[in-house]
Amino acid sequence: MSRRAHSIEIFGEVVGPSCHKTFNIPIGQLYTHTDIAIPVQVVNGKSGGPVLLICAAIHGDELNGVEVVRRVLSAPWLKNLRGTLIAVPMVNVLGIIQRSRYLPDRRDLNRCFPGSEKGSLGGRIANLFVQEILSKSQYAIDLHTGAIHRSNMPQIRVHLENEQAAQLAQAFGVPLVIDAPIRDGSLRGAGDDLGIPIITYEAGEALRFDESAISAGVKGVRNVMTHLNMLPPRKTGKQKPPSFVAKSSSWVRAPADGLFRIKLQLGDRVSRGDVVGIIDGPLGGSEIPVLAPFAGIVIGNTNLPLVNEGEALLHIARFEDIDDVETVVDEFRQEFDGIY
Ligand SMILES: [Zn+2]
Repeated sequence: MSRRAHSIEIFGEVVGPSCHKTFNIPIGQLYTHTDIAIPVQVVNGKSGGPVLLICAAIHGDELNGVEVVRRVLSAPWLKNLRGTLIAVPMVNVLGIIQRSRYLPDRRDLNRCFPGSEKGSLGGRIANLFVQEILSKSQYAIDLHTGAIHRSNMPQIRVHLENEQAAQLAQAFGVPLVIDAPIRDGSLRGAGDDLGIPIITYEAGEALRFDESAISAGVKGVRNVMTHLNMLPPRKTGKQKPPSFVAKSSSWVRAPADGLFRIKLQLGDRVSRGDVVGIIDGPLGGSEIPVLAPFAGIVIGNTNLPLVNEGEALLHIARFEDIDDVETVVDEFRQEFDGIY
C-alpha cells in the first residue's frame, strides 16, 4: 500500500504531491553585481516515501555528477517516484564558474561543513546548504570525481560503521566500496551529525565527462531509489552483482622524475612485482620500471605523463577475494562499454 504524499517546503518553496519545482537559493552577488544562487529542483511523488538528496560539484571542477543529476531528472522512470527527490547539481557554484575545485578564497567547501552563519565564505554556504537542503533530507548521495588529471574507477566511499549508509553503498551497485571514515568538515560529517546516511560516489576525472562513470552513476542512483522503495522493483530478471569492500588502498608513487607511460587500465588486476608503467627522460635511454608493491585492483590513476619523484601514479586497492572482484569488475567494464 502506498502512503499518502505530503507537500514539502524547502527555502520557502512549497512543492505539493505529484509536482516538481525548480528554484534558486541565493548565496549573494559576484563583485560584478550579478546575483548568484544554487539551482535546486525538488520532485515530489504522487505517493509518500523517503526524501533523498542527490548533489554534485561540491568540488566545482567535478562535472560527471552534474550530468548524473541532469539525466536522473529527465529519466522516464522518475514518473513512478514515491517520496521526494531533492536534486542539487551544482553545490559549489562559485567553483563551477572558475572551473575550480575550490572556492574563490582557495578553501575546500567539503571541509567547511556544517559551517556557520558568520563563518568564512565556505562556512556560510555550507551552513545554508545544511539548513535549507540537507536537514530536509533523510538520505543523500554526494557525487564526486577524481582530482584534476586523475581518474577514479567508479566506486562508493562510505563509513561502514554507519549501517544504513553501508546498505546504501551495497544498493548503489558498483563493484568497489571503500571504507572511508568521516572527515572533519565534510558533507558526510554533517550528515552523520544529523543522523542522515550519506554515500559518496567517485567516478572519472575532474573537468571531463566520462560516459561510463555517468551511466554507472545514473544506474546507481536508480538502484538506491529502488532499494528505498522510492521506485517499483525492476523486472530485469538479472541479479545485481555484489559490491566488494577493499581491505585497504594506497598509491604507487613515482620512483623517479620523467615521462610516465602507464601499462594498465582502471579495473585491471595486478600482482606484486608487475610492471605497471615505465618512467623515462625525454631523450630516452633511462627507462625505469614502476612495480606494483602489492596485489590488487587499479582503482585510480594519473592521466598526466609528466611526473616528479614521489608523485601519485596509480591507486591500488587490496581485496580479500580478489578472484571474485576481478570477475565482477570485468562484467562491469563490459556493461559500461568496456571503456575502462
Ligand atoms: Zn570531490
